Amino acid sequence: MDIHRLKYKDIKYLTHSRVHYLWAINELNEKKGYARATDVASLLGISRSAVSIALGHLKALKLVIEKLPEHTLKLTILGKKHLNNIDNNFIILSRFFKSFLNLDEEIATKQACLIEHLLLEEVAKKINQIIDASPSISLEKATISMPKSTKKLEENTYD
Ligand SMILES: [Zn+2]
Repeated sequence: MDIHRLKYKDIKYLTHSRVHYLWAINELNEKKGYARATDVASLLGISRSAVSIALGHLKALKLVIEKLPEHTLKLTILGKKHLNNIDNNFIILSRFFKSFLNLDEEIATKQACLIEHLLLEEVAKKINQIIDASPSISLEKATISMPKSTKKLEENTYD
């Protein structure tokens, strides 16, 4: 397969910043019981207009639904599924960077956060196998904590 010939529409449309929106919506629903666009904006430290553009994309992708008339946001089943995969990828990558590349936890988790949504399932499985085959590293499994959306979205990260 020539990857350069992949049509753009065949590529999954999740970007780094959109993952943070999903995290934020999920987190607000868990903590407050609801999530409105203004809550998402203040949690991520971004403007209302940026949030509404991103929400438009996430709704079009059927990852988020907006309930009317309250204008509250919820993840769809598909949205939750994506977020679950992303959480797993985040943990796998952070552990890999920390243990195999000897990066400190901050850099390891930051790098994992930037690319977790791009990891192919086959690759994630392979990395997991390598980690599991290394007993001393397997023990460190529990030491990576999820970043969650409360970490403000950095301005200079690529979308
Ligand atoms: Zn991130």
